[in-house]
Amino acid sequence: MLVASGAAAEALPSLDKAGFDQCLQELQQKARTEGIDEIIISGTLGKLTMVERVIELDRKQPEFTQTFAGYFNKRVTDWRVEQGRKLLKEHRPLLDKLTREYGVPPQYLVAFWGMETNFGGYKGKMPVLDSLATLACDHRRSSYFTQELMQALKLKQKYGFSNEQMVGSWAGAMGHTQFMPTAYASYAVDGDGDGKADLWNSTDDALSSAAHFLQQLGWQRNERWGREVVLPGGFDYAHLTDGKTRSLKQWGELGLTQANGGRLPALDMQATLHLPAGAAGPAFLTYGNFDVMMRWNRSVFYALSVGHLADRIIGAGALKVAPPEQTPLSRDTLKQLQAKLNDLGYEVGKPDGILGPKSIAGLRAYQLSQGLVADGFPQPQTLEKLGIL
Ligand code: CA
Repeated sequence: MLVASGAAAEALPSLDKAGFDQCLQELQQKARTEGIDEIIISGTLGKLTMVERVIELDRKQPEFTQTFAGYFNKRVTDWRVEQGRKLLKEHRPLLDKLTREYGVPPQYLVAFWGMETNFGGYKGKMPVLDSLATLACDHRRSSYFTQELMQALKLKQKYGFSNEQMVGSWAGAMGHTQFMPTAYASYAVDGDGDGKADLWNSTDDALSSAAHFLQQLGWQRNERWGREVVLPGGFDYAHLTDGKTRSLKQWGELGLTQANGGRLPALDMQATLHLPAGAAGPAFLTYGNFDVMMRWNRSVFYALSVGHLADRIIGAGALKVAPPEQTPLSRDTLKQLQAKLNDLGYEVGKPDGILGPKSIAGLRAYQLSQGLVADGFPQPQTLEKLGIL
């Protein structure tokens, strides 16, 4: 589970031991107003320690962008597909029951499990309470992590979890499904009937919680996430406007087909076109359930990987167009690109080295004006034309 992003990491004062101790006092006051038991406030919260590594990780910004191939090939592996198929069989009765109850088909639950922790193989070993207290006391995303810390303490109070059990990612995501404390408190359910929702030790609890979470995020029963498609030769990229949906029927009329060449169903269902590696890579049409997957983790690469992994687990083959090997671009290169687009009047905002919707729209407008393939992707031809490469 990805956490909300916050203020830029640059130029923030660093947290020291004295600042942390002061902050712990304030957190204890806050915990009292939230009705948390005094024994947890003085016995646990008051004794938490600062983890410097967590601040380093929170402030670390990647120097280079991640390519779609780099992301996808590491996550949708043959091993993961095989393991997913095996676990689907093993947990079939429970998964079928969850599908009846929550509407989410088995392969998606197994795919999320694979993506989050490699099916429980790596659930994270950082002390969640210490990590959350550290992030709550740091300036960058203090209010978000203060809430998460309070929820984590309430979970401890409700279920009697030990501090040793409460381990997870450096940002506080826990168990087989890597739920943040607020998601844990709101959506975790007891799947095996022992009276506790234990996302670390019970796969039944974890799979049931994933199904409940997806249902609550708006999962549409009987709908796919999306599919790989093929664009027709001479496709007009002016049709590719970020976030704009068309019906499957309309996409079919523009010449898009299924990856196997078959026609798209002439349905009214709304679909969004994604080219995660630009025109040189695979194309996908996604439906409402894709947006639900993005609510679990706000990353297009993540949701495309979960969707495809789910398809593979129930027998689909590899993508027709493999994600192409591309050179990762540095943040500096992307900042130069944004500055150039601003100079040319495209107004993409302050260069930050992150290609958001504004930058992509500006880039696409520039590409259209130059007769380049207008996929809104910083391909070498576009960068050359701008004099950046
Ligand atoms: Ca349980």
